[in-house]
Amino acid sequence: MTSIPVLEDLGDVAGRRVLVRTDFNVPLHDGEITDDFRIRAALPTITWLTERGAQVVCASHLGRPKGEANPKYSMDPVRARLAELAPGVELLENLRFDPGEERNDPAFAAKLVKGVDAYVDDAFGAAHRAHASIVGPPKTLPSAMGRLMQREVEVLLSLRDDPKHPFVAVLGGAKISDKLGVVEALLEVVDALVIGGAMCFTFLAAQGNPIGDSLFEPDQVDTCRRLLGLGKTIHLPEDIVGVDANGDYATFGTRLPDGAKGFDIGPGSAAAFSDVIMEARTVFWNGPMGMFEDERFAAGTRTVAQAMADTKAFTVVGGGDSAAALAQFGLDDDVDHVSTGGGASLELLELGDLPGLAALREAPNAH
Ligand code: ADP
Ligand code: MG
Repeated sequence: MTSIPVLEDLGDVAGRRVLVRTDFNVPLHDGEITDDFRIRAALPTITWLTERGAQVVCASHLGRPKGEANPKYSMDPVRARLAELAPGVELLENLRFDPGEERNDPAFAAKLVKGVDAYVDDAFGAAHRAHASIVGPPKTLPSAMGRLMQREVEVLLSLRDDPKHPFVAVLGGAKISDKLGVVEALLEVVDALVIGGAMCFTFLAAQGNPIGDSLFEPDQVDTCRRLLGLGKTIHLPEDIVGVDANGDYATFGTRLPDGAKGFDIGPGSAAAFSDVIMEARTVFWNGPMGMFEDERFAAGTRTVAQAMADTKAFTVVGGGDSAAALAQFGLDDDVDHVSTGGGASLELLELGDLPGLAALREAPNAH
């Protein structure tokens, strides 16, 4: 298998115009950037290139303008911040203003590479999309993955290929149907799966537990029952926190009364999940254990996050909401890797490859 070219494989970049696909999809409030983490995260790649004399042109999407120019999603605030952090670096207008981007239109890709000598993809969060700016340029230009992308790929593929055991995956979040593919792929490599979040209710229901009015995906019950029958270690919550039929805060066992809603794993489950994390040598966590945005239902997620910070295991967190939870608890510096890509990290774990990586592997300078 050809390997994915890295910056060093671009050869001499002095005086060359290099298009860098970045993920500058920053959070905005009233036109102001509320967190410039994604811009700063691209700096190692950008400065590597500029220090070697390259003329860097960045390109990114921002929000979902759906193929139309929309001032709400203009790159202007990002361009202003980028000018402060990396003077002299250009930034194209929002790629998704052109319908050709998401449609992977060759004419749009041709426009992007016009006058450009090389291409770098550092937008890991978009690498699972076969969009024009991601899969188009490597067809003709010497290409490479940037430093951010390189680290993501190294870490996530190491989980698939040679994790230290015990390897535990902790999964939560809203919907099991979103994550079924990765659950199945992880079951092949992990020693234990820990399941919390709203998705636990479909598993609990598959075991015959009444779950009240908790979030539930009836069409996934059979799949959950099959997964539970594979003979793998799957830890489910032993207690649940939520509200009773009157809307009052309540703690339950695994059998919820009529009208009750589960919004978090209970303290017993959180302690049990922590123990599993503490004893592991590799842990991958995706998906909050409960509706952590509401402080009443944040305890389960906080306990799991704290165990991720405390364990000696190699710890990786994927998923936008999981990363946000970790940051909210001030623990983001205490895990080994926080992935910048939600969907992309899950898809890379599931399939071992992404359209953006496959495109780079086919680039003219790949070997
Ligand atoms: P990530 O972005 O980390 O992949 P998801 O997007 O899958 O995570 O899920 C995050 C959402 O799941 C959060 O908004 C959280 O409130 C919600 N959630 C977790 N547990 C529950 C629950 N028991 N009931 C309702 N919502 C939940
Ligand atoms: Mg999410």
